[in-house]
Amino acid sequence: MNWKVFITRRISAEGLEVLRKADVNIDLHDEHEPPPRAEMLARIHDCDGVIITGGEGVDAAFFSGAPKLKVVSCHAVGYDNVDVAEATRRHIVVTNTPDVLTDACADLTWALILGVARRVVEGDHLARSGQWRGLSPTLFLGTEVSGKTLGIVGAGRIGVAVAKRAKGFSMPILYMARTAKPDMDALGAKRVTFDEILRESDFLSVHVPLTTETRHLFGEAEFRRMKPTARFINMARGPVHDEAALARALREGWIAGAGLDVYEHEPKIDPELVRLPNALLLPHIGSATVETRRRMAILAAQNLLAVLRSEPCPNVVNPAAT
Ligand code: NAP
Repeated sequence: MNWKVFITRRISAEGLEVLRKADVNIDLHDEHEPPPRAEMLARIHDCDGVIITGGEGVDAAFFSGAPKLKVVSCHAVGYDNVDVAEATRRHIVVTNTPDVLTDACADLTWALILGVARRVVEGDHLARSGQWRGLSPTLFLGTEVSGKTLGIVGAGRIGVAVAKRAKGFSMPILYMARTAKPDMDALGAKRVTFDEILRESDFLSVHVPLTTETRHLFGEAEFRRMKPTARFINMARGPVHDEAALARALREGWIAGAGLDVYEHEPKIDPELVRLPNALLLPHIGSATVETRRRMAILAAQNLLAVLRSEPCPNVVNPAAT
């Protein structure tokens, strides 16, 4: 069967190879950015499947533009950019790439934790600036990480992987969850209420998916309940926090710092946040290692093929569509 598949932007060659071996007719938008919306709709009109990444909005108009579409394969674990209910209604299967990116995201969460705690980026800028006057007992005093309390909101794959790494820093771990999390319990982490995690965490790390329930989970009221010495870390999705409230919290000292990989209106970042030295900002690169992106591309291609071939696929997010 000669399926046609549109890929919205450049992905690892190994993923393309999986599709080529299956004789798929690939229309690859071989750029770092996806094409303009109108061009994308034109290119998907005769496609059986698409591979998309995190930024593309996949909604009713997208589906209407692709009457043959059977599968939307997300080259991501988060699929908040896809109208899954609408896909299900049209019997279009949506898949994602869990697990293969967990370690990369957990590692980078730790880069944010350590970077914010020890003012790594500020130190780098001074070292390069020609303004450094030499060793000083008062230069860039940060805060200790070892022994501090780590709070995890979103105790899933990435949250657990972040908690595992915290054991090496002898940190008491708290987590907030809607359902039992045996993996967290096995690490000796303590399940607490949302109020407790806000009040007791020295580092509060967010790993929930973006849903109607988690949108603006962290706003003014929540930042005000945190310790003034606390650091807020978001490796999940930007709209989980209220960015204007976060900028105010950092400027006015309700909390001490933030490490962010994600923003409310990507790629725009609140200009105030950009000016604040106690915010460490990364450009949504949680899973951006060569190895992980290779695994994501391969898995996205395998998921897509499994659906087109009506084979079992473990990574379907809307089984009701099948
Ligand atoms: P996961 O295994 O599904 O973990 C998410 C956890 O959040 C689940 O344990 C879920 O548990 C919990 N959760 C959901 N809603 C909640 C709520 N309202 N309150 C408390 N807990 C809630 O997903 P993952 O693989 O760890 O990925 C987590 C998220 O990270 C993804 O959805 C994605 O948005 C983000 N991510 C970002 C990057 C990046 O580049 N920055 C890369 C990969 C992933 P229950 O459903 O049992 O409550």
